[in-house]
Amino acid sequence: MPGSRVLAPFRKKSLVGVVVEMVETPPEGTKIREISKVLDLLPALTPKLIELGHWIAGYYLAPVGEVFRGMLPPATDLSLRREIVLTEAGRNLVADLQAGKVLTDLSTQQVDFLRKLSEKKSHILLASSGKLGIAPEDLQRLQRRGFLEIRESMHGRRRKRQRIVAWKGPQDASAQLGEKEERVRSLLTTERGPLPLAKLLKLAGVSRAIVERMLRDALLESWEEAIDPAEDPFDPGYIPPAHSLNEAQERAFSAVRSRFELGEFGVLLLHGVTGSGKTEVYLRSVQEALARGKTALVLVPEIALTLWIGRQCHAWFGAHFEGVAVLHSALSDVERAREWWRVRNGQARVVVGTRSAIFAPVENLGLIIVDEEQENSYKQEETPRYHGRDVAIVRAKLESAAALLGSATPSLETYHNAVNGKYELLTIATRVENRSLASVEIVDLRRDFAQTFQTSPISKALHDGIAECLEFHTQALVLINRRGYSWSVLCRSCGASVQCVNCSISMTHHKSRNRLECHYCGSIQPVPKTCPKCDSKCVYFFGEGSEHLEERLRKEFPGARIARLDRDTARTKQQYQETLGAFAGGALDILVGTQMLAKGHDFHRVTLVGVVSADSSLSLPDFRAAERTFQLLTQVAGRAGRGELPGRVLIQTFYPQHYAIQDAVRQDYLSFYERELNFRRLMGYPPFSSLANVIVRDKNLEKAIRWSRRLSEYFSPYDGKGARVLGPASAPLARLKKEHRYQFLLKSSKRSLLTKLLSGALSFCDANEIPQTAVLVDMDPLSLL
Ligand code: ADP
Ligand code: ZN
Ligand code: ZN
Repeated sequence: MPGSRVLAPFRKKSLVGVVVEMVETPPEGTKIREISKVLDLLPALTPKLIELGHWIAGYYLAPVGEVFRGMLPPATDLSLRREIVLTEAGRNLVADLQAGKVLTDLSTQQVDFLRKLSEKKSHILLASSGKLGIAPEDLQRLQRRGFLEIRESMHGRRRKRQRIVAWKGPQDASAQLGEKEERVRSLLTTERGPLPLAKLLKLAGVSRAIVERMLRDALLESWEEAIDPAEDPFDPGYIPPAHSLNEAQERAFSAVRSRFELGEFGVLLLHGVTGSGKTEVYLRSVQEALARGKTALVLVPEIALTLWIGRQCHAWFGAHFEGVAVLHSALSDVERAREWWRVRNGQARVVVGTRSAIFAPVENLGLIIVDEEQENSYKQEETPRYHGRDVAIVRAKLESAAALLGSATPSLETYHNAVNGKYELLTIATRVENRSLASVEIVDLRRDFAQTFQTSPISKALHDGIAECLEFHTQALVLINRRGYSWSVLCRSCGASVQCVNCSISMTHHKSRNRLECHYCGSIQPVPKTCPKCDSKCVYFFGEGSEHLEERLRKEFPGARIARLDRDTARTKQQYQETLGAFAGGALDILVGTQMLAKGHDFHRVTLVGVVSADSSLSLPDFRAAERTFQLLTQVAGRAGRGELPGRVLIQTFYPQHYAIQDAVRQDYLSFYERELNFRRLMGYPPFSSLANVIVRDKNLEKAIRWSRRLSEYFSPYDGKGARVLGPASAPLARLKKEHRYQFLLKSSKRSLLTKLLSGALSFCDANEIPQTAVLVDMDPLSLL
């Protein structure tokens, strides 16, 4: 059946494939091989998903096999379990026989078996039935007579555990350690941190005996950890707040309902300011879809939000509709497979998840919600490079469902479609219960410097604002867009900066780990005492990151309870949730962090949000820089004043006159939209054109150059004929993970023309022996780096 996974012979191996089509006669000139095994009784992919897969492969120019691979459930070691279960009739028979009430024509073995089964809580594994001395024929007979049943179910294997080893000895132990011990210490401290035992042995190249000895000498400690910790995402006692919809919410919801009544495809954009109660509208819409016998998909931009929205869905729908499934990449394969099959078997009719949940195998789809549709995380930055929101719209169309996109700051493309009438625009302009939007003020850093002559990341205004929060026992959020201590290391004598050995990017100083790190490839270097180029002692650390900001805040507010949330402190989901939980519960006064803090969270005691540097995102070489800055600042401002207390936002900047900042201050989306749209029109950028980015890359510089020249022979004749081809030029990230990168940028007002050009380019590469891996094609790119 189409959509089923099968095992097929491939050279000398067997590989898993998917049936995409059944044909009566094989295409001419092809050699036919037998399929060795059909793996699915119920095809894994639904017909609509197969159709969607073909669309993705064609539109994003990705190999169709890779697309289907991303749609399939993880091939885990789920095991099929067969259980023998005593039926009601069987139980009655045993009871009656024991009471001497009836006679039976069953053999003694059969009766014995039924009795034993009733003693074993009425069910045993089929595999162990032999031990109870019953022959297969007898089993079948009992089954036919209706005294027992054989049930099949899928189960995950028991979770594996692993031993984690960490350093316990003194930090300055190096002098007393042998070479091997020192290697272990260095790995477990500055280089990597705690590691699974097996990994440590491999990385350090030492024997197990050495590690055991160091454990005995209390230089190391170790503990057991589940490889994927069990976690019930839903808190069973949770009762969601029951709000009746206010007028604006009601209006938005009834538009969705009318769409359902039409029963045809349509896209709705819910543009609601932060705190306008969009979640409530989503939940009612899902409820409405379910009531009409349909299913619903809810996409959220990050894992933490799956829990937040999933929990509400579960509380709303879990009991009536057998459940809500959650799908995201942090689940273990076993968990993901279980959720996936619950959806496929029709047990879960609501799916909440991140990007790839758009491929959830629901049938009879009525509604797809894409929350925070402008988020970059919906774009997959590896093959197939699809955009989850765009795929959501295509899928909704294939399934004649409604797509509901929600945002306080819609992407320019989406809002443009709404203004043009392609999407239905629903607006909620005020916060719930008429709470006011936070007041946003600019702190002009040029003026601050003129007054204080200080180069602290915290201006006087921000300092005073935080002091006020502490005095009145409210909370402050402070945002900075980089992690680490300082993001550049410069030599004052020769001007050289320390660059990554693999990438053309400066290394970031991490003070607590005492090393430099590359945030693109993860390579590390020791902190230089002298300049690596000229040996000068005047090395200078420049540009504050989150670690620096935290240190500074601790100095300025010694009594305050402060925590930091970024990818360094929130390595695991648990750490992340602990810190957020502590803040939400009032155990912290100030939370410092990166963008992670800007999204979605609903904290009620935050009265101040400080943005330490609004400018760094403005200066990126990217036509979306202004849009990103505006979105980030508006989202951040949305974190303040969500409870009864009014909120205040301070934005520190050197460019107070920039429209992205001005409009963010007024939280005026429409004004920003108009101005940005003008810029895009002038420059011929989306939504006035379609873009494609092509990167030619190789570790060998000469090859990268040669191939990009060749490819340019293919592209240049098309330039000016309905499309613009810019390049080849050195990509903004000219070197990444040891690869040299050259870039073509394609622009056209006709998207289909770009698709044609690009698929032509790929065949050209094939014909000219330019390897597939060297050419990276990105249709509708979000990042041009
Ligand atoms: P948004 O996603 O639009 O920023 P949320 O959906 O998070 O906003 O809602 C903000 C807060 O308002 C939540 O605490 C929610 O419980 C509350 N809320 C939603 N609808 C109503 C309503 N009709 N009346 C009162 N409070 C509401
Ligand atoms: Zn130097
Ligand atoms: Zn690097």
